[in-house]
Parts: sequence; structure tokens; C-alpha cells
Amino acid sequence: MAERLTLDTIRAWVEGFADRIDAHKDELTALDSAIGDADHGANMSRGMTAVLAALDGSQQDIGSLLKKVGMTIVSSVGGASGPLYGTFFLRVGTAAGDRTALDPTEFAQALRSGLDGVVARGKATTGEKTLLDALVPALDALDAGLTGAGSLPDALVAAADAAAQGRDATVPMIATKGRASYLGERSVGHADPGATSMTLLIEAAATAVST
Ligand code: ADP
Ligand code: MG
Repeated sequence: MAERLTLDTIRAWVEGFADRIDAHKDELTALDSAIGDADHGANMSRGMTAVLAALDGSQQDIGSLLKKVGMTIVSSVGGASGPLYGTFFLRVGTAAGDRTALDPTEFAQALRSGLDGVVARGKATTGEKTLLDALVPALDALDAGLTGAGSLPDALVAAADAAAQGRDATVPMIATKGRASYLGERSVGHADPGATSMTLLIEAAATAVST
């Protein structure tokens, strides 16, 4: 299988995520104004702008690069999303270690460490109208795609589709974690902002491996 993820691919993933956050900033803010405090677009945009500035080419392995991403997000973004996305990238980076390329299964396992970190930090589970509602089905679809001997690009496209379905499935949910939970039943009828940004992260991975 000649489809390892190189350091360049991982960097393209992070940069592609930053581009998508920038393009969807207003949408993320609009979603957060419906069920939160209207800062998710600004939070993610501030974080990813800081990340792009921090990636100066000195990160020479995947762990160093992704840990830099995580630490930069933690230090530049407050609220719920900063620690959660920061932890995600820190844990994915720790799992990748000093490798300069990952095979698809190693990448999927590293993403799952990131998920474990988010769960440990946020104490949420699926069905609570959070970013987990996009991330968990995405990683399940990625594993299923790789187990079925599919290519990494195909498995990541399936993961991105699953993330988008998971995001859409948050619309009728009642939020029980984070700021949106203060609204109770009034949180129904809007997609979760974090599930929406998380879908952008998985879409960026699918794009990074196919280009
Ligand atoms: P804040 O809620 O502090 O204003 P953001 O608006 O940037 O922070 O991020 C809100 C998003 O964070 C939510 O849409 C949700 O997806 C996610 N979130 C909040 N709390 C949790 C949690 N405990 N676990 C997982 N995700 C969470
Ligand atoms: Mg908010």
C-alpha cells in the first residue's frame, strides 16, 4: 500500500483545515449565535491563524508538528473549543511520535487517541450535541473503510461523509454539554457549531490525501 501519510500530507491537512475554518467562519459564528455565545467562528479562526504562524518549517516530524498545533490552539483559544481541539491535536501528535510518515492504520489509531483525549477532557459522549457527534462516526467509518481493504483516500471520503451526517444529526438533539446545554430544549433545531467545525477537519484530511 503506497499510501503513507507523509509530514507534507499532515501539514497540508492542517493548512487545509485553516483554510476551511476561514471560509466557514461566519457560518460557525451564526450557528454559535443560535445556541451559544457567537464566538466559535472567531475562536477557531484565531486558533488556526496562530497555528499557521507557528508552523515555521522547524517541525521535522509528525509528532512535533501536531503537538505544536495543539499547544498553539490551547494557548490562543479560550472557551470549550480551545482545550478540546488543542487536546485532540496534542494526543494525535503524541501517538505519531517522531515518525515522518504514517501508514493508514497508524493514522486512524492516532486519530482515535485524539478522540480519547477529547472524551477524557470534555466528559461527553455521542448524542449530547457536541463535536463528538461528527468525530466518532467519522473514525468508525475510517476504520471500516480501512478494514475493508479500501484505499486511504476512499476511507477518508467515507469518514467525511459520516462526519457530515453526524453533524446534520445534531440538529434535532438537545444539548446536554457545554454552553448550549443552558438552552435545554431551545437548543433543538440548529446544528452544533463544534460538530460543524469537526466535519471541516475530516474533510480537510480527505482532501489532503487525494491531492
Ligand atoms: P464556548 O462554548 O466556550 O463558547 P466554542 O463556542 O468555541 O466555545 O465551542 C463550542 C463547541 O464546543 C460546541 O459546539 C461543542 O461542539 C463543543 N463542546 C462544548 N463542550 C464540549 C464537551 N464537553 N465535549 C465535547 N465538545 C464540547
Ligand atoms: Mg461559543
